[in-house]
Amino acid sequence: MGKKSVPFEEKIRMFMRSQRMYWPGARILSGISGGKDSLMLAVVLKHVSEVDDVSVELLHLNFGQKGSELLEKHVERFASELGLPLKVWRLEDEWGMRFDELVSRLRGNPCAICSTLLRYYLLYLGRDYDAVATGHNLDDVVSFYLYNAMTGNVSFSSTLRPVLKTSVGPLKIRPFFYVREEKIAEEAKKRGIVSFPTGCPSEEEAPTVLLRRFLKDFERRVPGARKNLLRFFLEKTEPPKEPPNRCEICGMPTSGRICAVCKMKKRLGII
Ligand SMILES: [Zn+2]
Repeated sequence: MGKKSVPFEEKIRMFMRSQRMYWPGARILSGISGGKDSLMLAVVLKHVSEVDDVSVELLHLNFGQKGSELLEKHVERFASELGLPLKVWRLEDEWGMRFDELVSRLRGNPCAICSTLLRYYLLYLGRDYDAVATGHNLDDVVSFYLYNAMTGNVSFSSTLRPVLKTSVGPLKIRPFFYVREEKIAEEAKKRGIVSFPTGCPSEEEAPTVLLRRFLKDFERRVPGARKNLLRFFLEKTEPPKEPPNRCEICGMPTSGRICAVCKMKKRLGII
């Protein structure tokens, strides 16, 4: 008798349960960018909602980058075929401008601004849910830890855990925390799921992307290297501390008086 193979969705569901990512009656909001990780996460969460007493909704953040209208349509179709409710939030509706204009007016680093906005709005729009989920996989997590270590900011990684409590309310959960990128790609392929072009121009040259490529090559010689490296970082990194304050404007957690997003809005004269 061969080893009985447990379907991917079920394996992740069991992992989520073991990590207490949800409980009976919980409401989960999951980010859906259109990349294969977030699409596969939606598939997994659909399964979870069929087996357990939880409800799942998807959230697509549209920053108005090139191709974003088409991307939004792809995501809408995907969600409706899967049978999960989708919320769409558009930067232009709230800020009165698209991402490129915002970046050029702030003269900021687009990757830093994008990741700040993504993190902020997922939590802000998910504040009435029990958990907000993202599709970060093992490769994302390890490359981020390594990047922060190499740039002398390893403490920035402390919030990267499979489950993180937030002072706003919902848990931040990462069901694919220990799943290799290749595994997700393989499972996506089996189901005929392909990433929609997300229109991110920095995808090729971002430092964490280079590290990801390096780690994957390295693991061909040293199996298990990524998981071992992650284990090392998790052991060596201090557990995350909650930002001590609430933003005076929006009420979100911040280490200063005003959060990074409200600061941007102020500089742009929106608030
Ligand atoms: Zn704020």
